Amino acid sequence: MADTTRRDFLGAATLLVPSRLLVDVSPGDRTDSAGKPRKIIRVEALLLQQPLTERFWMSISPIGGMKPVAHRLIVRLHTDTGITGYGEGSGGGADVFRQGIADLVVGEDPFMVGKIWEKIFGLTYDRALVMRGWSRESVISAMAAIDAALYDVMAKSVGLPLYKFLGGYRDSVPVYVTGGYYREGKGIKELLEEVRGYIEQGFNAIKLKVGGITGGYSIQDDYDRVKAVRDLVGPNVRLMLDANQGWDLATAIQASNKLYDLNITWLEEPLHWYDDVDALRRLKLNTRVPLASGEGEITRWGARRLMETGAIDFLQFDCHAHAGITEWRKLAGMASMLHLWLAPHHEPHVHGHLLASVPNGFILESFANPARDPFWFEIYSRKPKIEKSVLYLDETPGLGIEFNQQALDRYGSKLL
Ligand SMILES: [Mg+2]
Repeated sequence: MADTTRRDFLGAATLLVPSRLLVDVSPGDRTDSAGKPRKIIRVEALLLQQPLTERFWMSISPIGGMKPVAHRLIVRLHTDTGITGYGEGSGGGADVFRQGIADLVVGEDPFMVGKIWEKIFGLTYDRALVMRGWSRESVISAMAAIDAALYDVMAKSVGLPLYKFLGGYRDSVPVYVTGGYYREGKGIKELLEEVRGYIEQGFNAIKLKVGGITGGYSIQDDYDRVKAVRDLVGPNVRLMLDANQGWDLATAIQASNKLYDLNITWLEEPLHWYDDVDALRRLKLNTRVPLASGEGEITRWGARRLMETGAIDFLQFDCHAHAGITEWRKLAGMASMLHLWLAPHHEPHVHGHLLASVPNGFILESFANPARDPFWFEIYSRKPKIEKSVLYLDETPGLGIEFNQQALDRYGSKLL
């Protein structure tokens, strides 16, 4: 085609196409969309709270604080055609639901999710935020639930499970279980009993807590705990470690290299809160253990720094806690371009659809202890099935979840 111009080529191609292909549109292929929702007419919001019966210590703090309480936000969007969508959040943002954030969504077209996302995000750099007395963090937490509910509406409207609506890649995703928390009186014997329980449930990937230096756990103590688990589970079970920002750089370099021979899939959030990116990059240059982080990032710009500095191997951005599915999808694209894996923090029933829609999804997090995560076990009457370390998605439209009304009544207080 050396002497052929692009125009000639396109002209020739046009001649080759039978014109009937362009006009013979089958009835199922028509672009009219009667029955699709055009408007969000009402928003409901519920805050669930449930005190935990014990403290599950990470390196420097227990889950849910010293008086631990599990939180969950549930948003339901009603549309003009009767289709409703559910979205969940980690509990932040309840205050802004009490103070009118839903007014920004009512009247909007649920398929204009990009517009709605920008409209709400725009508040975070607007005088209106201060005048309303809201915080950026609350708005970004509330966005997570609203955005997920919009995707639920859209996917239900076209009768597709969310992962297919997004452009499916697979229908099942690997799952790990998080455990190995520190607890007073919990020694290696008790840790191994816990891990044996996970193996009996069929898990082949387990994440353990490390980094408890300020709680009296030396590097050697953590090494002994992890080695005992490795010896118990053998070479074919994945082990991940989460230091929850418990170490300084020098300690993290020393600890990670000591732990390397235990075949660790990743070390998560190893470094203190105050310099967790540049120092993480230095750790990365000084350890052979892959690194994971990002659960605390609230926007794609924060997560970008983690990725473009080369500090991490696994991105853990949490669309359920921050900024929603719209933001997560943008990050998934960037992660792909940088050859990074996605291993999102918490909530496998939402992140499962997302990992199933991209090729660089690595694994989902789950919890197998009702005392640690009561809502997972109690509030759903339908959710994706997790069996033997795999989450299975089915053909149920949308996110594929239904709630147990009795549990919502028990733990929920209505915000809207
Ligand atoms: Mg973590």
